[in-house]
Amino acid sequence: MGEGMEMVKASETGKEAETGMRAKTEKSELVCIRCPIGCMITVENNPDGTLHITGNTCNRGAEYAEKELTNPTRIVTSTVRIRNGKQSVVSVKTKEDIPKGKIMECMEAIKSVELEAPVHIGDVALADVAGTGVDMVVTKDVEMATA
Ligand code: SF4
Repeated sequence: MGEGMEMVKASETGKEAETGMRAKTEKSELVCIRCPIGCMITVENNPDGTLHITGNTCNRGAEYAEKELTNPTRIVTSTVRIRNGKQSVVSVKTKEDIPKGKIMECMEAIKSVELEAPVHIGDVALADVAGTGVDMVVTKDVEMATA
């Protein structure tokens, strides 16, 4: 079944998602960021410790809400300086999600990085950023400046 059909089924039946994970608060509200619709999701603790998730139009919303409350992570983007390049900076991003609590440490670490041109998409700008085990990689090519 496609995602569009899941959406119709969920809204017709009012079906609600249940998971086996415990939330940090009694009731949380969050906006799903998995697609541009931006459903408002409510998560409540059931007495048995499971989560009661409502407001999500599709299953991706339930997955997002559960992860956001138990182990929130993000892709981090930034820029680093380039020496002797056709451009003076290049964009970088974490290769994978990192824990949300590590974002500031990651941004601080990348501030001191300077790369020598040329750099290419996928080059590691900073390995194991903030001890996360995830590398920050270059997302654009920058060639050497011509004399
Ligand atoms: S719950 Fe589904 S439809 Fe709603 S914003 Fe999230 S991904 Fe989009």
